[in-house]
Amino acid sequence: MNTSQSSEHTGTQPNDWVARSLASVWHPCTQMQHHDAVPALPLVPVSHGRGAWLFDADGKRYLDAISSWWVNLFGHANPRINTALKDQLDLLEHAMLAGFTHEPVIQLSERLSALTGHALGHCFYASDGASAVEIALKMSFHFWRNSGKTDKREFVCLQGSYHGETVGALAVTDVQLFRDAYGPLLQRAHVVASPDARAAEAGESAADVARRAARQLEKLLAERAGSIAAVIVEPLVQCAAGMAMYDPAYLVEVRALCDRYNIHLIADEIAVGCGRTGSFFACEQANIWPDFVCLSKGISGGYLPLSLVMTRDEIYQGFYDADVKRGFLHSHSYTGNPLACRAALATLDIFEQDNVLERNRERAARLTTALMPLAEDERITHFRQRGMIWAFDAVTDDPAFSRKFFANALQHELLLRPISKTVYLMPPYILDDEEIDGLAARTQGVFDEVMRG
Ligand SMILES: *Cc1c(COP(=O)(O)O)cnc(C)c1O
Repeated sequence: MNTSQSSEHTGTQPNDWVARSLASVWHPCTQMQHHDAVPALPLVPVSHGRGAWLFDADGKRYLDAISSWWVNLFGHANPRINTALKDQLDLLEHAMLAGFTHEPVIQLSERLSALTGHALGHCFYASDGASAVEIALKMSFHFWRNSGKTDKREFVCLQGSYHGETVGALAVTDVQLFRDAYGPLLQRAHVVASPDARAAEAGESAADVARRAARQLEKLLAERAGSIAAVIVEPLVQCAAGMAMYDPAYLVEVRALCDRYNIHLIADEIAVGCGRTGSFFACEQANIWPDFVCLSKGISGGYLPLSLVMTRDEIYQGFYDADVKRGFLHSHSYTGNPLACRAALATLDIFEQDNVLERNRERAARLTTALMPLAEDERITHFRQRGMIWAFDAVTDDPAFSRKFFANALQHELLLRPISKTVYLMPPYILDDEEIDGLAARTQGVFDEVMRG
């Protein structure tokens, strides 16, 4: 990377980006003071990306092993997605989706519907994940109201659940930090046991834990079904909770319980969809379809904000009426943005053309093998993997473990941000053998250094 090139864009030297950013940009999910503390939390001035790598203004590179917060699937500056976007840019950048429609949004809806075997044949669009969750919650509530069941307005979520940070999504999010800060604003949901396989007692399998958790849910539903609109889950992996993985048996049980008690099932596949857990939709591994699926993050290949909610025809028909008030009352300015939809179509093309799910099985096997020395290390517990997600928990009491790991990883050309004591890898689906082996070796190296202190 030559620095004069980036100076041209900014008119200043990249080495003052950090100071200027700290003075003017309020960064997300960050205690800003940590950037000024000693030692300071690093702030990386990224200038460009290529494949799995991000490059900073000084020309240093970082393997993006968490796909830039779980959104990037096929690398940065992907030539095929870039071409699709450039073509779309010359046709139509945006038009409102009320009273208008366009080819990218039609094609995307048709192709996603086909991926569910047309079980979920209606797509409603928004821009970010939290909004998709809000839409699913509102749609569920409104469907029941249209059906004369006005009491059904409560929701159920799992322990450790994460569904986004807007006020409605926070209500079904079980993260202590957020609850302490914003609890008074929220209409809290019922929180039931997580099927997290790490909770297994002696002699229990992951499926046993799943069934035990389902019994607890059943008890709640038996008591309160008349007041409950929907159960919301993150299928197979509760990512923000620290990659809590669980057995597909839980989804089978929850689907059956929701059917029995006349309650909607919302699958938040914002993080786990788009092939992340090994199948395109995580729910496929349990052979079930929910009533609503939320998608975002990877759906645009990590290029543009796009989210959507897919639902069944019966739900759609529950709103279909001459009366405006019985229609679904929700919109965003950028609903169904053509550029974002075009990026999503290019992403789906790559899945098809490159046989991605199949190739990922080979990548996953190689990375799991390369991580075996770590998996067997006494300083870690619960090494786990599903699809293109790997995680393990460090045995440490250091409250600054995550920050230290992040900073040390950057020095090893690696972008990794542990969640508390859980180190996880969530790389894009393009790593070659050399990058896979390098990722495992560097992760091991960083872990050794951080644990040695
Ligand atoms: C990231 C995430 C969200 C929120 O998406 P945003 O685009 O950040 O609003 C919701 N649910 C899950 C499971 C997520 O991982």
